[in-house]
Amino acid sequence: MTTLTLEHVWKRFGSFEALKDINLNLPSGKMITFLGPSGSGKSTMFRLVAGLDDTTEGTVRFDGEDVTRLPAHKRNVGMVFQNYALFPHLNVWENISYGLKLQKRPKAERRARAEELLDLIKLPHIADRSIKQLSGGQQQRVSIARALAMEPRLFLLDEPLSALDAKLREHMQAELCDLQQTLGITTIVVTHDQREAMTMSDVVVVIDQGEVQQVGSPLEIYRKPATPFVADFVGSST
Ligand code: ADP
Ligand code: MG
Repeated sequence: MTTLTLEHVWKRFGSFEALKDINLNLPSGKMITFLGPSGSGKSTMFRLVAGLDDTTEGTVRFDGEDVTRLPAHKRNVGMVFQNYALFPHLNVWENISYGLKLQKRPKAERRARAEELLDLIKLPHIADRSIKQLSGGQQQRVSIARALAMEPRLFLLDEPLSALDAKLREHMQAELCDLQQTLGITTIVVTHDQREAMTMSDVVVVIDQGEVQQVGSPLEIYRKPATPFVADFVGSST
């Protein structure tokens, strides 16, 4: 269970300020969402937390430890994206246990870990299937299992459900919450969907134009929006 801290974090692309002095101290073991409209800086913040990109200024800490200059593969984070990004030439269990293969772990151990994770995501019988045989929802679950295979410190998902139809999306929201609670892992879900954020989160970080507008529980944000932007964005279409 890892605490995530951002201190005076800036990200510039040339002269464009994508993130402006972000200061966050997020609790461990919770379901956290980064909520904001398209272009607000959610994925940029996600990438800095994951180690996929460098901060221009400022510090990222996991449990107080400065990880600002550590690349993604040294941060021990599990990542899931909208487009699944599975390896099409590997079958389901090989996809899930790919990270263990890089660590040269024995095949029996990799297979057993993959089966354990398939149980966890409620797809117990598909270990030997090809990725192409799976539906979009199944592929997304497999990418979730793959992200969890190395027991990451943080579980990071960028718009994980955006490609799914509305009914499946609601179902997966509930399953992700169950999974987060079962594992007790600090989880960050990026979303532009305020209803999704309100349904899923312990803590919502509302972001607009590269600035954090508010951090709070769904109820706090709904009842006491800190800025007109939050009132409008959270209040609309709920
Ligand atoms: P969100 O995920 O909230 O939709 P992003 O974090 O992807 O938004 O982008 C925030 C802003 O930063 C956007 O204006 C985007 O065009 C800009 N941006 C993101 N990545 C780059 C990049 N590599 N180069 C230049 N501008 C970028
Ligand atoms: Mg994005």
